[in-house]
Amino acid sequence: MFTKILIANRGEIALRVIRAAREMGIQTVAVHSTADSDAMHVRMADEAICIGPPSGTQSYLNVAAIISACEITGAEAIHPGYGFLSENQNFVQIVEDHGIKFIGPSAEHISIMGDKITAKDTMKKLGVPCVPGSDGGVPDLETARVVAEEIGYPVIIKATAGGGGRGMKLAKTAAELDNAFRTARSEGKAAFGNDEVYIEKYLGAPRHIEVQVFGDGKGGAVHLGERDCSLQRRHQKVFEEAPGPAIDAETRARIGKTCADAIAAIGYEGAGTIEFLFENGEFYFIEMNTRLQVEHPVTEGIFGVDLVREQIRVAEGLPMSFSQEDLQVQGHSIEVRINAEKLPNFTPCPGKITQFHAPGGLGVRMDSALYTGYSIPPYYDSLIGKLIVHGRDRPEALSRLKRALGELIIDGIDTTIPLFHALLEEEAVLTGEYNIHWLEKWLETNMQG
Ligand code: ADP
Repeated sequence: MFTKILIANRGEIALRVIRAAREMGIQTVAVHSTADSDAMHVRMADEAICIGPPSGTQSYLNVAAIISACEITGAEAIHPGYGFLSENQNFVQIVEDHGIKFIGPSAEHISIMGDKITAKDTMKKLGVPCVPGSDGGVPDLETARVVAEEIGYPVIIKATAGGGGRGMKLAKTAAELDNAFRTARSEGKAAFGNDEVYIEKYLGAPRHIEVQVFGDGKGGAVHLGERDCSLQRRHQKVFEEAPGPAIDAETRARIGKTCADAIAAIGYEGAGTIEFLFENGEFYFIEMNTRLQVEHPVTEGIFGVDLVREQIRVAEGLPMSFSQEDLQVQGHSIEVRINAEKLPNFTPCPGKITQFHAPGGLGVRMDSALYTGYSIPPYYDSLIGKLIVHGRDRPEALSRLKRALGELIIDGIDTTIPLFHALLEEEAVLTGEYNIHWLEKWLETNMQG
């Protein structure tokens, strides 16, 4: 059993991990940059170590400093949170080489899923349905033309190393292919150091449905249903819910079992998310994230489990504390992402919080590292909080979300809160009848910059 773990992250996710560890009687070590000396995760952890200057590359991505922090404090394991080093197989390898346990999957599994072409190939072989497209990488424009003709336009060109919505280009017609191919390649090269691309059929009006899976690393695995994250801006999620309004119990059990069997077959350890596009009743795999997701609380809401506790348990070599039969959907959960951004252009808006008041009451959870007087540094992601609600059903969750948003006060900076007030007045949001393009179109007509 671990007595002390280090959290290689900041913000709300660092608090999330500290909370789970504390409930398990495990000591925590926070690491931080010089810009984060006053951050909540530093105050809340049992110990804190400064690992570098403000820039992420010199601090939260500074592998040598993080390993040293572990050695100085005697932490036996590292929880990476999401982002930063959470899906970096080299980091995982170095951690394990130093005799420290990485709380998450093996370097090998991260590496397989981190390359989208290999991931798709692996999933296909494991019986997971995929988006029709090229068989592996597409080396040149000539091949791209042939493949695109075969699958039919529109097509999407994707960088195999892409992520966070980058390295993806749409070609509606053959005339657009040349440009899309070149841009996807150069974006892949510039942002991820890899210009390999592949082609997929572009789906016109799918929903984004992702399945939460969990493996014990010894061939045992379960699924925890799906999340619908179709409300996206620039391929980034802003509003997530579970269960998916378009998924019934039979479909959930079927796709869930396919996913759980797939990760069981490879002996996957810990939490993972298998992402799909869902259109006309069919699932199409797009990628797997080998970490805890930002939106994991909606899954915790409907199953009443603590996913971080579970991650720590399996990292300790313990069996999972629930079986597939134990996991029954209870009610409905919704999460909205509160960003320090100014509408209508979503311009990052760091600064000093002059007043912070978190909502409360039945079925309300606020995961945030804010406090009154805190200054949000300009160096990191603009996510400053997640408001998560749970209700007996979707209508109750929606009215609870509206009530909780009304109680939430974040003064001193601009945030995305007004976006959610407006969205909760929309028929499509209230009925759940939206797809991945709905929010972009809504923003065009309702939030002109
Ligand atoms: P990233 O790794 O950058 O997040 P993903 O492959 O997960 O990229 O895709 C992100 C989003 O892009 C999806 O949620 C969806 O909105 C859109 N997308 C990806 N592939 C397709 C496709 N084949 N057709 C239509 N939209 C797509």
